[in-house]
Amino acid sequence: MNIKKIKNKRPDLLIVGAGPVGCVIAERAAKIKKWTSLVIDKRNHIAGNCYDEENKWGIRVHKYGPHYMRFKKRKIFNYVSKFTKWIKGNYIVKTNIKGKLYPIPINLTTIEKFFKKKFKNPNEAKKFINDLKIKKKKIQNSEDFILANLGKEIYENFYKNYTIKQWGIHPKNLNKSVVGRLPIRYNRDPYYVNQKLKVMPKKGYTNLFKNMLSDQKIEICLNTSYELLKKKIRPKVATIYTGPPDVFFNFKYGKLDWRSLEFKFNTLKRNKIQECVQINFPNDYKYTRKVEIKHVTKQKSKYSTVSYEFPKSSGDPYYPINNKKNIKLFAKYKSLIKKLEKKNIYFEGRLANYKYLNMDEVIECALKLFKKLKLKYK
Ligand code: FAD
Ligand code: UDP
Repeated sequence: MNIKKIKNKRPDLLIVGAGPVGCVIAERAAKIKKWTSLVIDKRNHIAGNCYDEENKWGIRVHKYGPHYMRFKKRKIFNYVSKFTKWIKGNYIVKTNIKGKLYPIPINLTTIEKFFKKKFKNPNEAKKFINDLKIKKKKIQNSEDFILANLGKEIYENFYKNYTIKQWGIHPKNLNKSVVGRLPIRYNRDPYYVNQKLKVMPKKGYTNLFKNMLSDQKIEICLNTSYELLKKKIRPKVATIYTGPPDVFFNFKYGKLDWRSLEFKFNTLKRNKIQECVQINFPNDYKYTRKVEIKHVTKQKSKYSTVSYEFPKSSGDPYYPINNKKNIKLFAKYKSLIKKLEKKNIYFEGRLANYKYLNMDEVIECALKLFKKLKLKYK
C-alpha cells in the first residue's frame, strides 16, 4: 500500500478491519460525533468474514462460510435494519447419518426417526432419552455434555466425529460450550437457531456493510495491513483493532491456535441441488458440511452453487479454539490489551476477543465500545 494514496492522514479514528465491528464504529462515529475514520483491511474487500459476492453464474455466495443472521435483541436488529431490507432466514439444516437425513439440531423428529419410535408427546421422548443419558458428576467438556444430555448413541453418530473433524481435537478436550451451541429440542422446531428474529439481508451482507460505510467522513483503504501503516498514521482520538491479539503483540507470549476452513465451490445448472441450505456429514468425507446458499438468498436462477467445508489447522483464523491452553494464553494477552486503553488503542470483535461471537453479538459489542468512546473523548 502506498501511504500517499491515503487522503486523511490524521483521522479521528484509525479502524483496523472492515468487518462488522469496524463498519459499525465508523458509521456511529461519523453520524453521532462527526468524527472522521480511516478504515483499513488487509483483504481486498469490506465486510470481514461476512463478505458475499456474485460468482460468474450470478449466484451470491458466502465466501467465508454460510452466515445465518439472527438477533437476540430487537434493539440491535433495529439498528442494523437502517442499512438493509430483509428476507426471512429460512435456516434449515439436516445431517446425513448412513445416507439418511435427520433434522439437526436434534429434535423430536430426529429422535423418533433415529430410534425408530413414535412418541405421543415430548415427555415420552424425554423419558426415553433419560434412560440413555450417562450420569456425570461434573460436565467437564463437550463429550460429557452430550453423553449426559443425549446418551452414547446420539453422541457417537451425530457429534463425536463431526467435532473431531471440525476441530482436529477430541470432544473430551473441548469446552462444553462448543457443542452447547446447538440446542437440544423435544419439539419439532426445524430451524437451526432458536432466535425468532432470523433474517437474511435482501441484497447480501457486503451491500449491508457498504451502506454502513457510505458517509463521506469514512475513508476505506483495502489491501492494507496495520503492521505496515501503524507508524505512519496517528489518529487524533483512538485506534480500534479488530484483528488477532497475538499478531498485534508480535507473538510475545506465543501463538493462539485457530481453526480454519477451506471452501470448495461447485456450480451446477440446476434450480436446486439439495433439499435444504445445509447438510452436515459427521461420519463420512473430509468435509463437514455442504451448503447451498440459494435456499436462503432466494435468488432466481437456472444455476445453483454448493460449497464444501474442509477444516484445517492453518489458514485464515476462523474459530478460536476453546481449550485450556488457549484460554490461559489469551488471558495473558488480555492484560496487555487492557493497558493499551491508556494509549487510546481498543480491541474489539471476534478475533480481538478470541471468542466465538456471532454477528449480532459483535455488532452489540461495537455499539457498546462506541458509547464508551463517545463519553470518554468529548
Ligand atoms: P471479522 O469479520 O473477522 O473482520 C475482521 C477484519 O479485520 C478482517 O476482514 C481482517 O482481514 C481484518 N484484519 C485483521 N487483522 C488485520 C490487520 N493486522 N490489518 C488489516 N486488517 C486486518 N455469525 C453469525 O451470526 N451467523 C453465522 O451463521 C455465522 N457463521 C460463521 C461461519 C464461519 C465459517 C465463520 C468463520 C464465522 C461465522 N459467523 C457467523 C461469525 C461472524 O463471521 C463474526 O461474528 C463476524 O464476522 C465478526 O466480525 P469482526 O468485525 O469482529 O471480525
Ligand atoms: N456439531 C456436531 N454435529 C453437528 C453440528 C455441530 O457435533 O451436526 C458440534 C461441533 O462441535 C460444532 C459445534 O457443535 O463445532 C457447533 O456447531 P455450529 O453448527 O453452531 O458451528 P458453526 O456454525 O459455528 O461452525
